[in-house]
Amino acid sequence: MLNGKITLVTGGSRGIGAAIAIELARCGASVIVNYRQGQTAAEDVCRTITEAGGIAFPIQADVSQVADIERMFDSIEKTHGNVDILINNAGLEIRMPSTDYPEDVFDRMLDTNLKGAFFCSKRVLKAMKEKGWGRIVNISSVHELRPTGNRSPYSISKAGMEMMTREHAFEFSRFGITVNTVIPGAIRTDLNKGVLSDPAYEKRVVELIPARWIGKPEDVAPIVRFLLSEEARYITGASITVDGGLML
Ligand code: NDP
Repeated sequence: MLNGKITLVTGGSRGIGAAIAIELARCGASVIVNYRQGQTAAEDVCRTITEAGGIAFPIQADVSQVADIERMFDSIEKTHGNVDILINNAGLEIRMPSTDYPEDVFDRMLDTNLKGAFFCSKRVLKAMKEKGWGRIVNISSVHELRPTGNRSPYSISKAGMEMMTREHAFEFSRFGITVNTVIPGAIRTDLNKGVLSDPAYEKRVVELIPARWIGKPEDVAPIVRFLLSEEARYITGASITVDGGLML
């Protein structure tokens, strides 16, 4: 289904990004697995893919740095050609009360979650427009919809990502490009391993979820795959929650 599509998954070395990378490779995409510091984890994801007969390559870049994004795309384009599918997944969440955020922590979260996604999109949209085909999926969060305290820069970054999806869909859908948001709820990954290791906290989270369980990265990957398919060609500017009903 995705044969020959050059696909970049930012933050593809762990968690939700790794599950997406593996699923898209299973569907035939040539997947480039971006990571910031976890080289071994990225290589492990690529090995899982290639051992299953797929195509994958790791690539290091800190998406919070625009110069690094440019370097990453220069390298990808030289080796593989233009990116057909971009999954803006790399993300960072650091929790504390709004009154405590130092400037550098605020900047790191906004630069990774929002600015990085914007500049990766900027880099692919021009070539996608010329080709007349492209797919972008932005991995946001239920926190773009509902405030919960203790993570306001994260929620702000994800709300910004939502409007970025809509702006880009509005501007580029006429060129055969779709841009959509996937909104995961509570998904068990390294991002929340610390807080979920407290059984009382985990119980409180589960009780908020109508499905009464915490999702896995593999629960997010299938909707991303669908949004990349030809059947989804008329879906653009949309936001789809994958949250066990958390936002009801
Ligand atoms: P993880 O913490 O498990 O993985 C984060 C990934 O992002 C890693 O591959 C990491 O690479 C990469 N990354 C972080 N910062 C950068 C950076 N500056 N440049 C490049 N890569 C970077 O996170 P999840 O899998 O849980 O989250 C993935 C996405 O899903 C995020 O956008 C998150 O906000 C969103 N999400 C997650 C939810 C959850 O419950 N888990 C719920 C809703 C949304 P490295 O290890 O090399 O740093």
